Amino acid sequence: MDRQEVEILAIGAGPANLALAVAVEELAGPELAAQTLIIEQHDDILWQRGMLLPWTQSQVSFLKDLVTLRNPRSEFSFLNYLHSIGRLDEFINLGSFTPYRLEISGYLQWVAESLRDVRIEYGKRCVSVDPVVSDDGGVHHWSVRTADGGQIICRTLVIGTGRDPHIPTEFGALPRNRIIHSTEYASRATALDPDGAHRILVVGGAQSAAEMFWAAYQGFPNAQVTMVMRSIGLNTYESSKFTNELFYPSFVDEFHAALPEAKEQLLREMHRTNYAGLAPGMLETLYREMYQQRLLGVERLHMITMTEVTGARLDGDEVVVSLTDRKTRRTRELRCDVVLLGTGFVRDMPKLIRELAAAAGVSGATVDRNYRMNLPPSYTAGCYLQGVNEATHGIADSLLSVLAIRAQEIVYDLLAHRKPAPAPALALRTS
Ligand SMILES: Cc1cc2nc3c(=O)[nH]c(=O)nc-3n(C[C@H](O)[C@H](O)[C@H](O)COP(=O)(O)OP(=O)(O)OC[C@H]3O[C@@H](n4cnc5c(N)ncnc54)[C@H](O)[C@@H]3O)c2cc1C
Repeated sequence: MDRQEVEILAIGAGPANLALAVAVEELAGPELAAQTLIIEQHDDILWQRGMLLPWTQSQVSFLKDLVTLRNPRSEFSFLNYLHSIGRLDEFINLGSFTPYRLEISGYLQWVAESLRDVRIEYGKRCVSVDPVVSDDGGVHHWSVRTADGGQIICRTLVIGTGRDPHIPTEFGALPRNRIIHSTEYASRATALDPDGAHRILVVGGAQSAAEMFWAAYQGFPNAQVTMVMRSIGLNTYESSKFTNELFYPSFVDEFHAALPEAKEQLLREMHRTNYAGLAPGMLETLYREMYQQRLLGVERLHMITMTEVTGARLDGDEVVVSLTDRKTRRTRELRCDVVLLGTGFVRDMPKLIRELAAAAGVSGATVDRNYRMNLPPSYTAGCYLQGVNEATHGIADSLLSVLAIRAQEIVYDLLAHRKPAPAPALALRTS
């Protein structure tokens, strides 16, 4: 069995842990950086691989890359990436602050390849994390198991695995080949016959659902594509420059210190800045296309609003979805071949973190201001959680906007906690 020991283990090579890797190299020095390992379940790095469609753009400025807000002189900036691949002139000429998702994705892979000391191991999926109880009764190390049977012992963990996809229970009875969550769209939609006369149902009313609606319409020219949503209709996301200030990394302090009712108001009022809306260009494109179809009398795009999916079953070769109109509570059935879920992500902590909290004997995973998990006093082994602390650190927590500064806060905090720990016992006891 493959077994190794490192000082810092970061799980997931998404933007959050790549920002951390750069911060470790730039702020903590080569010795600690060489003792830092990132494991990534895939064989490469792709940003939002399920929705990495060629025409999709990032919704935040390229200046909110992995480093610039922390260190504008860093060599790991998005601009340096463009310079290194010879596309800086063209990007400037495009005159846009929001790069294509493909460009952000290329940038992330470039950062990963440009790291000097921090290592990344690909094709390693973490399946469990356990505290290692040492002879003095304290927990100074974690034991991480990977799907390939490997074990990694570390003193500090940083979990940046994103959030778990939300599959509404109504779809629980359908076979897996009939539902595609947005996180899998790019890889699994290709299994459908491109010329097939599919009846495709898209569930959801926000950006990912709208993108799948458009991608399915374009990718399957003989398909009928229907979108069903609870809301009164598609809307753009809220983009006021005034409320956008709440995405500043400096706002995290204010949010963290706010009263519970103020936090609730902030999250409620900020909801449409991130979750419930579409980019204006997408909205215009969809509306114009549907208008033209009506004009020509050849409708392939359909929208059902104010409607809930209340059940789904397989009948022969067809998926039968029960739809309940929220205006009348009347229910009807809709038959289709495949369901695309733009239903977002589970709000709770990811399963891996919930299991870790349970193994550490704490009820619920919570972090302090510096993202360090609150663990029993006997723990000197630290665990930092990235991207899952919206409830305590604000709406920007899952976004690129705060990554550069958050990585710095985590690195400074883990340096402050660094004390020599007893070496892990050869025969490890995990609680
Ligand atoms: C479609 C879509 C578009 C978005 N667009 C924007 C945008 O324009 N701007 C913005 O700021 N934010 C956007 N976001 C939010 C997005 O969450 C962040 O941009 C960013 O990707 C968060 O980075 P992360 O590293 O926390 O998580 P992720 O990007 O989700 O990365 C997590 C990584 O961990 C890996 N991983 C997961 N589980 C394991 C495991 N058990 N073992 C090993 N590896 C594992 C994954 O393969 C992945 O590489 C978007 C989100 C979606 C879904």
